Amino acid sequence: MAEKAPNAGIVRNVSNWINGEIQEAQSDRWADVFDSATGEKCARVVMSSEADVDAALASARAALPGWSGTSVLRRARVMFRLKELIERDRAEIAALITQEHGKVLHDADGSIQRGLEVVEFACGIPHLIKGEYNDQVGSGVDCYSMRQPVGVCVGITPFNFPAMVPLWMFPLAIACGNTFILKPSEKDPGCSLKWAELLAEAGLPPGVFNVVQGDHVAVNSLLNDDRVAAVSFVGSTPVAEHVYKTASTNGKRVQALGGAKNHLVVLPDADMDQAADALVGAGYGSAGERCMAISAIVAVGDAAEPLLDKLLPKIDALKIGSGMDNNNDMGPLITAEHRDKVRSYIDIGEEEGASVVVDGRTHAITDSPGYFLGPTLFDHATADMRVYREEIFGPVLTMVRVDTFDEAIRLINEHEYGNGTAIFTRDGDAAREFAHGIEVGMVGINVPIPVPLAFHSFGGWKRSLFGDMSIYGMEGVRFYTRLKTVTSRWPTGIRSGADFSMPTM
Ligand code: NAD
Repeated sequence: MAEKAPNAGIVRNVSNWINGEIQEAQSDRWADVFDSATGEKCARVVMSSEADVDAALASARAALPGWSGTSVLRRARVMFRLKELIERDRAEIAALITQEHGKVLHDADGSIQRGLEVVEFACGIPHLIKGEYNDQVGSGVDCYSMRQPVGVCVGITPFNFPAMVPLWMFPLAIACGNTFILKPSEKDPGCSLKWAELLAEAGLPPGVFNVVQGDHVAVNSLLNDDRVAAVSFVGSTPVAEHVYKTASTNGKRVQALGGAKNHLVVLPDADMDQAADALVGAGYGSAGERCMAISAIVAVGDAAEPLLDKLLPKIDALKIGSGMDNNNDMGPLITAEHRDKVRSYIDIGEEEGASVVVDGRTHAITDSPGYFLGPTLFDHATADMRVYREEIFGPVLTMVRVDTFDEAIRLINEHEYGNGTAIFTRDGDAAREFAHGIEVGMVGINVPIPVPLAFHSFGGWKRSLFGDMSIYGMEGVRFYTRLKTVTSRWPTGIRSGADFSMPTM
């Protein structure tokens, strides 16, 4: 049974959150937000101007001395309360995600869970942020290091995870003592105000967390403002590159996570049932709109035929429809424009000569209102084809056949993206060699979507990540703090006069 979308029939206004309250924006530019399963307008979101961004920055800057000086235990307690509040409201948040994004409720709920785990990790900040101490590094001299907040941090997030990706960023940034400005995707902005309300209810002082809605105008003014110390970005590779170049040129700390083309290698000895299940879930779950979705299958040796035997009936059995119906496996795409772009890739693949084994363009679901497309499977694709090289970000799986394991590794290592990858095999030696030699940031062994848990860190290689540090986990703590090292000696310890040579203790 399909649930009703929250506020069905009501067009909400989504505005900014500045200094602890909703603030009407000065900009008069607005964009529409759609219920992707029905195609109906469900909200309007303001496209903030430079003046709106300035107001958010002033609020975040003013709150910084008070919040960074608040004891780490009190900051942790806000995270404990936030965890309880997210758990209390998670069904409402999942329904909001499903309405604006389209993913099925159970999947939306899973994404909240993965974000919640970062809040749980941030609850441990008093331990995580501890420095180091070395006594007697010289005669009467001690040395210690501490991690201090970097200042005003900015998070710019994509449409595909309106709950999880912001939660990868702001809990740790805030727990580390920074203030934060979130610029969510304009395609599904609803959750951003929910975070603001819950943080306020959890006791976070006004100004520590702010939201500016909008597009490149808001992003660019944040990137160019001297009050911003650090930028976390997650989105497509061209925008990640722009954000990285602009913000780092302006002297900011930047982590910019980009797009992906994730390969799943199937060796002939794999459990084909398991591999096929992994492929339908990781290829078509969330309509393929996951940065860790599998989009390329690499069938090694004679793996292709037995794999297809298992895979095709599973694709055929996929239940596609409104995400409000928890019985469905796959919902619509985010917008009509994106659905059309993904569909055009099926045309391109066909023209390039890949065989269209399953054609999403002709699926019965495409007659429904909303932004639906059926699942597509290409076979006999080659490394020079656009459907293999480019990120499609939709329910399209592209199979490449190779003769050997070494060829599979070479193919993946030569790809410009290096976000995630997986291998399905019963051969421990092959799996180990794969994990060791593959030039990709996150690797699954008989696990199709190897998103690291909150106490590890998430990040790709090559053109899937610009900047030096991955997101959340201890890398997140390091990203949102600056290291300070103190060397101390008390006056009675200074026994001789000035020393002009390099101190060697
Ligand atoms: P996007 O790059 O279009 O947008 C991301 C953010 O950047 C949004 O907030 C958007 O408003 C802003 N933006 C868009 N164009 C801009 C411009 N020209 N200048 C400044 N800001 C701009 O990405 P999307 O379509 O929202 O999300 C899908 C993409 O995100 C896919 O490529 C996917 O792989 C990637 N993604 C990556 C990860 C990861 O962890 N590596 C996670 C989720 C999504």
